[in-house]
Amino acid sequence: MQLFVNLSLREEGQDPRSRRPHSPLVNIELPRNSPLRLLQKLKGNLHTHTTFSDGMHTPEYVADKYLAAGYDFLAFTDHRCFIGPGAHSVLSYWARLPDKVGEMLILHGYEEEPVEIQGRHLNIIRAGNEELRIINHPNEYGLSIADVKDAVAKTNAHAVEVTCHGRYLERYDTDELGVPRVATDDSHFGSEIGVSWIEVEAEKDPVSILKAIKAGSFVRRIRGRD
Ligand SMILES: [Zn+2]
Ligand SMILES: [Zn+2]
Repeated sequence: MQLFVNLSLREEGQDPRSRRPHSPLVNIELPRNSPLRLLQKLKGNLHTHTTFSDGMHTPEYVADKYLAAGYDFLAFTDHRCFIGPGAHSVLSYWARLPDKVGEMLILHGYEEEPVEIQGRHLNIIRAGNEELRIINHPNEYGLSIADVKDAVAKTNAHAVEVTCHGRYLERYDTDELGVPRVATDDSHFGSEIGVSWIEVEAEKDPVSILKAIKAGSFVRRIRGRD
């Protein structure tokens, strides 16, 4: 993507109202890696269930609800045990999801129970060559901080969820974990939609969003707290 900035030049002390109708214009093209590139603040949910697993509503219904709530991106992360085994099952699940609904990006993911962490839940979200792995709702297994750190290490997770169905888990919100902490809805029902989210500073494309989350370039919004 190229970004063009139009600069209108005028002499010092000149009354803007007296500007010549044809002020000189300068076009500046910023390279892709320029720090001056404009980043957006993007509101998103990283953990969502639908009728592809144990969610109550279809992806279309859920996406419309998030779109109406002003989200910029939404990750569908149905349970792997419903999607089926093998990479082809995941690919066929993702192929049945849209890439975009209105102006909202749809990220493709799933929630699995890796053998390395004995059935505990890990979200995997992928875009291009970028993959984001998140340890989910550590409270549901009564994990200690040391247990969570161990789960992060065993799965090479990039982040830990510090919400459970949108509810804040203060106990796990510590720098000791060594990875960013995200807030999500883990929504299965309409009432769980739009409770807690993150706002990521990134360009509006799935790869940039995943990279920014891994780098910790986001803020969390948790109902009743932020
Ligand atoms: Zn789960
Ligand atoms: Zn879930």
